[in-house]
Amino acid sequence: MKIVHTPEEMTIWSNAMRREGKRISLVPTMGCLHAGHLSLIKKAKDLSELVIVSIFVNPMQFGPGEDLDAYPRQFEIDCGLAEQQGADIIFSPAPEKMYDDTFQTSISVGRLSRGLCGADRPGHFEGVATVVTKLFNITSPHVAVFGEKDFQQLAIIRQLVKDLNIPVEIIAGPIVREADGLAMSSRNKYLEGNDRQIALCLSQAIAEARKLIAGSTEPVLVSSVLTVVKSIVADAGAVLEYAEIIDKVTLATEEYVSAESVLAVAAKIGGRVRLIDNSILI
Ligand code: AMP
Repeated sequence: MKIVHTPEEMTIWSNAMRREGKRISLVPTMGCLHAGHLSLIKKAKDLSELVIVSIFVNPMQFGPGEDLDAYPRQFEIDCGLAEQQGADIIFSPAPEKMYDDTFQTSISVGRLSRGLCGADRPGHFEGVATVVTKLFNITSPHVAVFGEKDFQQLAIIRQLVKDLNIPVEIIAGPIVREADGLAMSSRNKYLEGNDRQIALCLSQAIAEARKLIAGSTEPVLVSSVLTVVKSIVADAGAVLEYAEIIDKVTLATEEYVSAESVLAVAAKIGGRVRLIDNSILI
């Protein structure tokens, strides 16, 4: 497996592979790889001959006071894991190779970025859309694979490639969970002591919501489901940032749960670890 650290070297490789007629997939990550990331690499390998895994903790998507410096990094381990899973090349640029002193252009995202994580993290999705566009331009993939774990991000990226006519196919992979239901996340590493147990309230709240809806023969009011979700999170001792039921494509709020509905939840555990989770409801 090859490792490259500069956009120039990455583009030369991708262009050469494209000239040979190879189909290329990109799996963008911020590293600290876990089974969720590895499932995306595996999916990418099934879809194409060559898989690029980018490992880049993107400063532009972190706000002031967020965990940019503390974000877990384990580059050598990540390279080993990605290689085992079939990655052909790791692209891991230094921040100054992506954003030099003259950098001044960014992608602004409209309505899809305003609610949910976008409301709690101003500028986050501008940072995501900009870095993903840069990664697409640098790596020229035929396919890019993203996780449903970052459900709003996935909706925004689908819209981004449509709006800007970027010639890449976006493929989604399902959320990979720990045996007890906790959605895998690089940030789970921050959970200490009892916080690991408290963090389960997100997946438990989602499971309860699904049970409530499955057990009802009448149309289910979104507000009644959210009341249950909020009380489960509060009782566990986590601080809810949002719990919303929205349409899976438009992210618009709904009055009644439908086959298109997604429950999305974000909460702070132990006062500092921000976790997200989501699921379709029917
Ligand atoms: P990150 O490294 O957190 O930026 O995530 C990189 C990619 O992995 C994104 O497309 C995420 O949605 C995806 N991802 C993160 N956690 C999971 C998970 N538990 N299951 C599936 N995909 C995930």
